[in-house]
Amino acid sequence: MAVPLLDLSAHHRPIREELDAAIKGVLDSERYILGPLVQRFEAQCAEYCQAPHAIGVSSGTDALLISLMAAGVGPGDEVLTTAFTFFATAGCVSRVGAKPVFADIDPDTFNLDPADLEHRITPSTKAIIPVHLFGQCADMDRITEIARKHDLVVIEDAAQAIGSEHHGRRAGSMSPYGCFSFFPSKNLGGIGDGGLVTTDSEAHYNRLKVFRGHGASPKYFHAFVGGNFRLDAVQAAVLEVKLRHLDASTEARQRNAARYGELLADLVKDGALSLPVEEPSKRHIWNQFTLRIKGGKRDALRKALGDAGIGSEIYYPRPLHVQECFADLGGREGDLPHTELAATEALSIPIYPELKEAQQVEVAEALRNALRG
Ligand SMILES: *Cc1c(COP(=O)(O)O)cnc(C)c1O
Repeated sequence: MAVPLLDLSAHHRPIREELDAAIKGVLDSERYILGPLVQRFEAQCAEYCQAPHAIGVSSGTDALLISLMAAGVGPGDEVLTTAFTFFATAGCVSRVGAKPVFADIDPDTFNLDPADLEHRITPSTKAIIPVHLFGQCADMDRITEIARKHDLVVIEDAAQAIGSEHHGRRAGSMSPYGCFSFFPSKNLGGIGDGGLVTTDSEAHYNRLKVFRGHGASPKYFHAFVGGNFRLDAVQAAVLEVKLRHLDASTEARQRNAARYGELLADLVKDGALSLPVEEPSKRHIWNQFTLRIKGGKRDALRKALGDAGIGSEIYYPRPLHVQECFADLGGREGDLPHTELAATEALSIPIYPELKEAQQVEVAEALRNALRG
């Protein structure tokens, strides 16, 4: 039996009628972009994320871009972030004319290491973008404290972390801007692109709204250059249905993660791999279940899994500080040792909510055969 990395048809099957009705409702409404449905979804998301306000946008990438614009980050500013993330986190910093500065990760959690972050602060540092990677929050206590001390804006990249918590506080609600993605493979995924920004004040909310519509306020009068960052109603309608099922899906992911802990215990004991570390202060929502494969065997193992019909993915094979497009920033191999090691060891295996126990047993068997065989 093949085990895909993600099975969206299994995810949609039980809610297919609800989804069809929601999509048809939009078609009949003739309100296709923003409008009352998007507003209703924004309110539900704000509540779910424990944030005072939320604004729907066109993608997770645009959530980051619009937050940087609204925070006034631009040329001459440095923005501290991680190099072990999806490209958009740092790409958006460059797009507003600012300079991404990369700090190393905590090897246990793959998230930003606050101590390493703090000693990279310069007089030009304007903001920090922590990423709640794979569905587990970064150390927001320390990051918030550092930001306060140095007067920096925090923008949470919560694209992989909707509903995850740090000491009972939800991702996106611990800073002025929380950025979410509804890319289909995220825990709350649409049927196209979409995103959202949660924010802590009405002033930020109003500013984000202006930037979402080309910086116009009132209509046809532009004090700023914004963009078209609007969310469409089909996505909001689908996401509203899926939001109702999100906690059940998250609990299924958590059960699957716990089961892998049992199924892979012997391989951990062998020292062949290590399991992702779940911190007790967090609610991990398991967007990815990411192993570390030791001894330089990761790439061969991934091939063996593929041959056995088991999906896996490397998030992320090349850290951002050594990407060609950032060569002018002067990043070099050796600058971020924990990040660079993670890029050679990380391997994400199927964790989606509908994954069956028998499939997990099969994944574990395939790992065992490849590592011991
Ligand atoms: C998915 C993702 C994004 C970008 O979201 P899109 O909706 O694909 O634009 C940004 N940051 C992280 C960490 C992501 O995983």
